[in-house]
Amino acid sequence: MKPIRTTYSDVKSQIRQKTHQVTNREKRQPWLILHLPHDSTDIPESVRDQFVLTDAELARELLLMTDTHTGILFEGAFPDGHVVRCPVSRLVLDVERFEDDRLEVMSSKGMGAIYTCTSHGHPLRRELSSTEKLSLLADFYRPHHKRLTDATVKALKQFDKAFILDAHSFPSKPLPYHFDQNVNRPDICIGTDSFHTPAYLQDAFLSAFSQAGFNVRLNAPYSGALVPATFYQCDPRVSSIMVEVNRRIYMDESTGERLPTFDAAATRIRDCCRNATLSFG
Ligand SMILES: [Zn+2]
Repeated sequence: MKPIRTTYSDVKSQIRQKTHQVTNREKRQPWLILHLPHDSTDIPESVRDQFVLTDAELARELLLMTDTHTGILFEGAFPDGHVVRCPVSRLVLDVERFEDDRLEVMSSKGMGAIYTCTSHGHPLRRELSSTEKLSLLADFYRPHHKRLTDATVKALKQFDKAFILDAHSFPSKPLPYHFDQNVNRPDICIGTDSFHTPAYLQDAFLSAFSQAGFNVRLNAPYSGALVPATFYQCDPRVSSIMVEVNRRIYMDESTGERLPTFDAAATRIRDCCRNATLSFG
């Protein structure tokens, strides 16, 4: 019987094949939905009169509250994915909150879906009429959630699975409205949901960012991962995870300007997300 020998060229060929397979998988993540709820600074002229802040005060609040540059940080990671980005600032309306204030824990800070207070607990808006509140929900909240739900339905129809990556950033120092006031904040926070984040996916994200040299923490200082209400806690085919990036990694927090190291940081973050997502399904 002839011994089976593996030659050097066989090994090289196997490595090439393996690399090629991974590359193909990396390029094909059409079931991925990248959710960008907080990177817009747009305040439509039609609602500007609701805010009691001067232009300078509003600009300052936008700098503190906007997940600045997250679109650029994350978008290149998934060329085949579907991006759902909120077109208006979270100060206009926060799509990440429950529509009903009675269900939303942040409403105790004046920061339900429609904020009434600033990050420092000062008045943000004048008293709105119920018609104005309903208009905000009809114009911005519900269309956004419809886009997110439609993208999820489409992925489920085509692939029988959907993966929502909920992308955020956070200030390096806690703001007064934050529940978690620990000043020792990680580089990356991974948020999970007990029903919609499988353990293997949680582990893949934690280890991808740790191995890339980031200081990573699970569900602190922020927890949870967004899932459209239609599927929440009832459809296990919908997975979700939140990735929060500490802004000190990529921007000057006093101006919003990108650091010279922005591109390198963005590449690392995208690589971590892409590698961790390879484990999905
Ligand atoms: Zn955010």
